Formats: sequence, C-alpha cells, structure tokens
Amino acid sequence: MSFAVAIDGPAAAGKGTISRAVAAHFGLAHLDTGLLYRAVGAKVLEGAEAVEAAEELRAEDLKAGNLRTAEVAQAASKVAVIPEVRAALVDFQRAFARRDGGAVLDGRDIGTVICPDAEVKIFVTASPEVRAKRRFLELQAAAGVMSLDEVLADVLARDARDRDRATAPMKPAEGSLILDTSEMTIGEAVAAATKAIAARR
Ligand code: C5P
Repeated sequence: MSFAVAIDGPAAAGKGTISRAVAAHFGLAHLDTGLLYRAVGAKVLEGAEAVEAAEELRAEDLKAGNLRTAEVAQAASKVAVIPEVRAALVDFQRAFARRDGGAVLDGRDIGTVICPDAEVKIFVTASPEVRAKRRFLELQAAAGVMSLDEVLADVLARDARDRDRATAPMKPAEGSLILDTSEMTIGEAVAAATKAIAARR
C-alpha cells in the first residue's frame, strides 16, 4: 500500500533531518528531491544544457560528490525555474511517492504539485537568520570558506528565486502542518512531525 508524506520548505529549515528521521521511524523510503535539481545544476556548471541534463538524469548522477556545495545549490535554484526541467523530473518523483510501502519526499513543491493528495503534508520553516546559521555550521564542518553574512545572502537569494518563480513556487500546500523550527531542537521538530504522521497512519 502507498502512503505519501510531503515535506516542503526553504533551505536549511530542517526538512532533510526531519525527513530522514521520520522515514527511518515509520520504515518509509525517502527521496531528497533537491538532489535532482542539484544534479542538474552541477551538470550545467560543467557545460551541459539544463533541459537535456534533466531529461537524461540517471540514478548515479545523484551520487556525485559535489552536490552539497553552495555553488551547486545556487545553480540548482536557477535550473529549477525552468518549466521543462521541472516537467522532466515529475514522473520519477510521482512514481517514488506512490511506491508500495510508502515514501517521504522532501522539497519545495511536493505537497502542491508532485503529490497534492499526499496523506501527510508538512511545511517546515524557520527564520532566515536561524537557517543561515545552521547552513553556516554545516558548511564549516565541510571546510567551507563562506562567512555567515555570505551564507545569509545566499539563503535569501535562493528563497526569493524559489518563492517568486512562476512554475511550482515554494509555498505551503493547502492543509499542511506548518512547523516553524526557529526555536525548536532537532528532537522537538522530529517529534512534532512524527506525531502528525502517526495520526494518519
Ligand atoms: O533542498 P535543496 O536545498 O537541496 O534544493 C536545492 C534547490 O533545488 C532549491 O533551492 C530549489 O530551487 C530546487 N528544488 C525545487 N523543487 C524541489 C526541490 C528542490 O525547486 N522539490
């Protein structure tokens, strides 16, 4: 039986951590859909054409080592405004959402476009300053060289591009639980999401 959990929200709000935790807790498959756009963005940085890169994307492209960098994140949000790029990635995501055994997908448009009939929809958010601080610490751990101000500028630029685009803009889906993690620990945020999912299981 399928059971889809849609988790959307801006960069570094905690979607990834929450998604991995609830997928493990409920035994659901997990797809970080940002990786699809990052993989396309990485190919464009190498000189590929965006729509072609999206149409030809293969599973091994999602394992490239550089997908978590700030440069690839910006490239991802630039290719993500192109309707044909998004269209090329829809079928794979929808099939994943409806796989047997259930799935958690995290991204920007899962509850609005990819899986509007998801059994559970959660929009995870946090203030830009809190998100920049979290991303800064992650990048530091990976020997990043950006300052906190640069990371904040990056996060704000990506938020604006994701929110203001015409196709599948980032916004809470109707009926979603809004989870503001600004003042929550990871444990508290995971517990709130777990509770919302358990109520529908
Ligand atoms: O979630 P992550 O930060 O890895 O996503 C990278 C970029 O990919 C986002 O800034 C956004 O532009 C794009 N994206 C999207 N739709 C999704 C997931 C990611 O447009 N479902």
